[in-house]
Amino acid sequence: MEKRYFQPEAETMPLDELQALQSEKLVKQVRYVYDNVPYYRNLMDEKGVKPEDIHGIEDLHKLPFLKKDDLREAYPYGLLATDIRNCVRIHSTSGTTGKRVVAFYTQHDIDLWEDCCARALAAAGATKEDVCQVCYGYGLFTGGSGLHGGSHRLGSLTLPMSSGNTDRQIQFMMDLNSTVLCCTPSYAAYIGETLKEKGYRPEDNKLKFGIFGAEPWTEEMRRDIEQSLGIKAYDIYGLTELSGPGVAFECEEQRGMHINEDHFIAEIINPETGEVLPIGEKGELVFTSLDKEAFPLLRYRTRDICILSREKCSCGRTFIRMTKPLGRSDDMMIIRGVNVFPSQIETVLLNSGYSPNYQIIVDRVNNTDTFDINVEMREEDFSDIPGGITNKEKALQSAMKTMLGINPKIHLVAPKSIARSEGKAVRVIDKRKRLGITI
Ligand code: ADP
Ligand code: ZN
Repeated sequence: MEKRYFQPEAETMPLDELQALQSEKLVKQVRYVYDNVPYYRNLMDEKGVKPEDIHGIEDLHKLPFLKKDDLREAYPYGLLATDIRNCVRIHSTSGTTGKRVVAFYTQHDIDLWEDCCARALAAAGATKEDVCQVCYGYGLFTGGSGLHGGSHRLGSLTLPMSSGNTDRQIQFMMDLNSTVLCCTPSYAAYIGETLKEKGYRPEDNKLKFGIFGAEPWTEEMRRDIEQSLGIKAYDIYGLTELSGPGVAFECEEQRGMHINEDHFIAEIINPETGEVLPIGEKGELVFTSLDKEAFPLLRYRTRDICILSREKCSCGRTFIRMTKPLGRSDDMMIIRGVNVFPSQIETVLLNSGYSPNYQIIVDRVNNTDTFDINVEMREEDFSDIPGGITNKEKALQSAMKTMLGINPKIHLVAPKSIARSEGKAVRVIDKRKRLGITI
């Protein structure tokens, strides 16, 4: 098959050259941050590390970590490394886990970010022949701007829809022959569902593939989207603090996302102790930017849990791969002492033939955690025979027990009764937070 690269010289660089490049860039980036960001200089001074102690990637572990709380504390300008007049853009995180943080970009930062998104699109197969419908939100959120910029760079015809107004999305998709869809996986599932309701078959649209990310989604969800839209669904990962989407992306293998290692170094650490773990072990992903000007971050703790792999990839890229994040460490719920990730629940639901529309509600009553899952029935399964539903609930409960080790209470609810997401889906309502319990 024809190789799909945007910048092959970087994407397929031999590993020893890549690591030499990382070392060279790291030394410069550390010096730059030390000289320009007093907040991080203090952290280095406290740890007794000087820029001259960093000779290459082997010294990375000597640097202090940065956490989201540091970004919140330094908000808004405390981590800015250049004169604000050199910046051309501000974006903000979605605020999924608390107070939003802001990130700044020079034109150079935007250029590199858009290159990363163009790499993701090219890896999925996009070319200048494609019509790329971007329905990630535009605005402060990085999803819209990132894929929009990547699509321009590649020379695809860009349809800047932003999220929402699903009827219009579908009208333009059909009238303008969109071939690439970019949005969150939960919105892709919703678009697929709406197409079906309008009587379209998967083969009626011209879409070939989609680039879906910004939130956790399972392999089961991928199959669901691929079937309902008749496409290949590719994952893309990123976070505002580092630029936005495109920090890592899937190639045609669809087995993990390649991290753009010429711009970011990835490490996996034990989230409890901060110890660096060998490649192949599961832990928290930590990133160091290598050539950012406005908002460079060294050893930034993402709180995303995943596994890295250096296994050779048939696409020819040498960049390390990360598994789909299992969820954020702060998405993990501890219910009656057991660790539960929403992704485990999604897997059970889709494997049992349910739709990806569900909501998890956790509370604490009389010192005991309650654990309820509302699951939407598909139209065709909806029956008003009470016995029928109870049996289905029991079957699902036992499948959950096998996966999670604890018993949730399942409530099968009517089709369409759970709100659809046009951006990042809200899957968990943890009412224990009102009791001041930090889980
Ligand atoms: P917020 O952290 O407020 O949601 P962002 O919009 O910057 O702000 O989102 C970045 C986060 O989104 C990542 O740290 C990660 O938890 C999640 N994320 C992004 N892409 C993916 C993906 N492909 N799979 C799973 N989670 C993802
Ligand atoms: Zn690959």
